[in-house]
Amino acid sequence: MKPEIQANKIVILSGSGISVESGIPTFRDANGLWHNYSWEAVASPAGWQAHPEVVLEFYNERRKHAAEAQPNVAHRAIAALESAYEVIVVTQNVDDLHERAGSTNVIHVHGQLNYARGTSEGRKRYRINDAPISMGQLCEDGTQLRPDIVWFGEDVEYMTESRRHLETAAKVLVVGTSLSVFPAASLVKAARSRAEKILVALAMDKLPYGFRFMRGKATSIVPFLCQGWLAGGQNGDPYSDSNTTVS
Ligand code: NAD
Repeated sequence: MKPEIQANKIVILSGSGISVESGIPTFRDANGLWHNYSWEAVASPAGWQAHPEVVLEFYNERRKHAAEAQPNVAHRAIAALESAYEVIVVTQNVDDLHERAGSTNVIHVHGQLNYARGTSEGRKRYRINDAPISMGQLCEDGTQLRPDIVWFGEDVEYMTESRRHLETAAKVLVVGTSLSVFPAASLVKAARSRAEKILVALAMDKLPYGFRFMRGKATSIVPFLCQGWLAGGQNGDPYSDSNTTVS
């Protein structure tokens, strides 16, 4: 039996698009910066085995860039929802802009830039904030430190917990994700048919069933949506593109 929906609960499922207007590019865009290496080469265990120094340099740069970025009005509007709702942010993002905007329940399914971990099974994590990781810097178990990021082919974190939150949410907002990275993208399927479900992005190939598509920038649409929810109702849909509602 499915758990009860909680009328006061909102789950946000965010992806890299929400941080674009804070100046953090999506990986597709960031890839261009890393001329000789494909994104997979810096985000897979095979890439780490082949050239760990390049992988560390890539993430050191991403970490520095993320530390310099500021949360935008979309991150802040989501944080403000906590004044009236239980809000869980499930993010694929590795930056900490949701936390810095004030969100207090943030689940990072793909890891976080400001943590490092060893490479053994034990995987002790260390908070490093914006500090770089160097070759030769070791975990206390003697293994080389690496970014605490989930790479292609590695287990995504907190999936069961995230799915449970989606199953009990009365409102679900998906923002800034192409829903093309699995298994995180499959989380949308856990949203209930009776929940109010909205997806905000610049483009979407295939809209998940039951979601209303609002095409546009996160900073234009998310504050408007959140204000609607804080005012106590379901949202109007001036940007809605109902023709794209396909399963
Ligand atoms: P994606 O690149 O697959 O999709 C980005 C989505 O954001 C697209 O649907 C696009 O239409 C939308 N978008 C772009 N600009 C937008 C804007 N201004 N407002 C609203 N929407 C906008 O990204 P993804 O789905 O997050 O998956 C890629 C992976 O990259 C994720 O696993 C994530 O971990 C990682 N990543 C994270 C960061 C970060 O932490 N900020 C940055 C780059 C990549």
